[in-house]
Amino acid sequence: MDRWKIIVLVILSFMSVLIWRAVFAQSDGQLKVVILNVGQGDAIFIETPTGTQVLIDGGAGSRVLGELAGVMSFYDRSIDIVIATHTDADHIGGLAEVLQRYDVATVIENGMTADTAIWREFDGLIDDEGSVRHTAIAGQSLALGGGARLDILGPAKGERDELTSKANDVMIVSRLVYGQSEVLFTGDIERDDEVRLALSGTNIQSDMLKVAHHGSKNSSTNLFMDRVRPAIAVISVGENNRYGHPHKEAIDRIVKTGARILRTDIDGRACFSSNGFIWSEC
Ligand SMILES: [Zn+2]
Repeated sequence: MDRWKIIVLVILSFMSVLIWRAVFAQSDGQLKVVILNVGQGDAIFIETPTGTQVLIDGGAGSRVLGELAGVMSFYDRSIDIVIATHTDADHIGGLAEVLQRYDVATVIENGMTADTAIWREFDGLIDDEGSVRHTAIAGQSLALGGGARLDILGPAKGERDELTSKANDVMIVSRLVYGQSEVLFTGDIERDDEVRLALSGTNIQSDMLKVAHHGSKNSSTNLFMDRVRPAIAVISVGENNRYGHPHKEAIDRIVKTGARILRTDIDGRACFSSNGFIWSEC
């Protein structure tokens, strides 16, 4: 064999190792949940045991792209489902960047429009992308493959139609369930939504909680925390943000539950995987 044939062979076998590693990485029966570190904002990446990828919110700017590069294969250019919990810039700003970089099959929205440049850009990019658009309502459930499902707990029926509702009050709240493992994603809900959820009769108990509204003082109410009873509470928040998030009162209420608290501004990206029974850090 001449030298070039050997070089080509080495490159091919190296590539096949990479491909098989990626295949096995996705078929180990693990559900992966990563609260990305996007500064002040939210972005959560989910990968199910069958490889379905979901992104809930995208933070404010392009920072989400670097975070996704850290948790996705370098050749992966598609995301199955993008969920915009609401229309605020610290949630959909980065999703505009994601729509430009990745093929996105489905976008799930709160069904509201907003009179902002970033919302118009986001809206236009979804249409350009040709993604299927879906409006979330409590009671829906998305099968994500491998037995994982995402139950939609909010917005409640009729909430969108109330004259008083502002675009950023209508929030997609969802609960990921895989075997005996659950994660609750709250967006920026505050006291009213927390009380409604706590009293709705729906099971909201969850192993892991994406703490509501970056740890604002009107969120993480005692009643709500009592019903969720998380073992792990992750606060997605930017360093020295101008809102003073997370608020001390909220942290004190979370501490009372005995949950382990992680903060993206201090601990960085929070990565957990579950086999349906036990969570491990990844
Ligand atoms: Zn927010």
